[in-house]
Amino acid sequence: MKCVVELPLQLDSFQAQREAMVREQIAERGIRDVRVLEAMRRVVRHEFVPESFRQHSYEDRPLPIGEGQTISQPYIVATMLEHLAIRSGDRVLEIGTGSGYVTALLAQLAAEVFSVERHESLAALAESTLLRLEFRNVKIRVGDGREGWEEYAPYDAILVSAATAAMPPELFAQLREGGRMILPVGPASSQELQLIRKASGSRDIRILEGCRFVPLVEGEAE
Ligand code: SAH
Repeated sequence: MKCVVELPLQLDSFQAQREAMVREQIAERGIRDVRVLEAMRRVVRHEFVPESFRQHSYEDRPLPIGEGQTISQPYIVATMLEHLAIRSGDRVLEIGTGSGYVTALLAQLAAEVFSVERHESLAALAESTLLRLEFRNVKIRVGDGREGWEEYAPYDAILVSAATAAMPPELFAQLREGGRMILPVGPASSQELQLIRKASGSRDIRILEGCRFVPLVEGEAE
C-alpha cells in the first residue's frame, strides 16, 4: 500500500511561539487572508533575527537588525500583505530588504520577488539567510530603492518597508496597470499607511492606519 505522508509545518523549537504569534497578534486582530496567515505560520521569523534578540523573535514589536535598522513588527507586515492581495503568479518588488523576513513571506505568496536594500551588509545577510532556507524565487540588489528596479518592471505589487515624505514617482511608473503598492507616508515620527492602485495610469489612493517605520533614506549607503 502506498503511504501518503503529509509534510508537517517546519518543525523547530519556536513553532509554538510562532503559532501563538499568528493566532494572538495577527488573526485575533482581524487579519483574515488565509494565504497570509499560512505564510506567517511557515516562515521561521527567528532565523531573520540576530542571535542576541532571538528569544524575542515572536514578540509584538520590531527588533534591531544592525545598521540602525529593524525587522518590522509582525502585525504591520501582515496588514501590508493582506492589503496587497498578492496572487501566486505575481511579480513583486520590495523596497528595504532589511533582514529578509518580509522578502521570505512575499516569496511564499508570489511567483517572483525582487528586493532592493541600501545597506550592503544587510542585503548580503538577508541573501544568505534566504538561500539557507531554500527560497529560490528571490533576487536582491544593493541600491537606492527610491529608483525601484527597472530591469524587471512592471510589477503586480510593490511593498515599501521604509517611510517616505511622498511616494517616489519611479516606483509608481514601475507598477503594472491594475497593480497595487503599499507604503508608509509621512515624517520620521509617525506615518500613515497608503494603499495605491494604478487605474488607467492614475493613482487611486486609500489611506489606511497609522504606523511607524524607519525612514527611506536618499542615495546608497557609503
Ligand atoms: N522588511 C524589513 C524592514 C527593514 S527596515 C524587515 O522586516 O527586516 C527598512 C529597510 O529599508 C532597512 O533595511 C533600510 O536599510 C532600508 N532602506 C532605507 N532607505 C532605503 C533606500 N533608499 N533604498 C533601499 N533600502 C532602504
